[in-house]
Amino acid sequence: VKIFDQPGMMREQLDHLRAESKTIGFVPTMGGLHEGHLSLVRQAKSVADAVVVSIFINPLQFGANEDLDAYPRKLEDDLQQLEQLDTDMVFTPTPDTMYPLGLEAQTKVLVPDLTTVLCGASRPGHFDGVSTVVCKLFNIVGPNTAVFGQKDLQQLLIIKRLVADLALPVTVIGHPTTREADGLAMSSRNTYLNEDQRAIAPTLYQSLSEAVEAIKNGSRDYPALEKGALTTLEKAGFAPDYIEIRRSTDLIRATEADEDIAIFGAARLGTTRLIDNIVVSTG
Ligand code: AMP
Repeated sequence: VKIFDQPGMMREQLDHLRAESKTIGFVPTMGGLHEGHLSLVRQAKSVADAVVVSIFINPLQFGANEDLDAYPRKLEDDLQQLEQLDTDMVFTPTPDTMYPLGLEAQTKVLVPDLTTVLCGASRPGHFDGVSTVVCKLFNIVGPNTAVFGQKDLQQLLIIKRLVADLALPVTVIGHPTTREADGLAMSSRNTYLNEDQRAIAPTLYQSLSEAVEAIKNGSRDYPALEKGALTTLEKAGFAPDYIEIRRSTDLIRATEADEDIAIFGAARLGTTRLIDNIVVSTG
């Protein structure tokens, strides 16, 4: 695996591949890699000649009181895992190279509507940081295909909208969520959980799954299902942020008439914020 921390060097290396008509697959990450990330890398490898993984803890997408400083930094371990997958290249820029004039002065890319609900409501500015860094990474790497996890379904929809609205020449693929044996969605942030919290954590997926079962059995009382899941989470010891059933296409609140929907959940266990979602088709 070849490692680059300078955008110019990264781009130059990829220009050589493009000159040989090789296609490039890209998986942006913040590191702290786990099996979920690796499944995206495998998918990228299956659709492209060469795969680039970026590892960049993007300060622009963290709020002032969020976990930027505590976020897992495990570069050696990450590189080892990527090496085992035969990843071609890893891009590891620093905040100074990505934002030389500072975060305030950085030109930003703002996707409207999709960014203001769910996690966008609880984390103001978060998705502006995401869309800006992804746009910049796309311009450095120039991938034919980029793979994102459905674990962050709102993020995936925002990136797809960004690519469509700005006519970026990238195909965006969504990849299913990788889970632990007990259903907990894998996340770099799971390492924050103590033993007791780790035991409670799968309740988030369980509460969403119960609502999905009810929907599959014909229930369309979405407010009641949301309330039921919130109560389950509170009883388990979570401080829920939201449970919402929305259209999986444009994140508008789901009604009985909508066929492509998803249930989204975010909840805190102590200071750790976990998110998850399940897509359902009622058609
Ligand atoms: P992150 O490092 O958390 O920014 O995630 C990088 C990419 O991995 C994003 O596209 C995430 O959606 C994806 N990802 C994170 N966790 C999982 C998971 N458990 N299953 C599938 N994809 C994931």
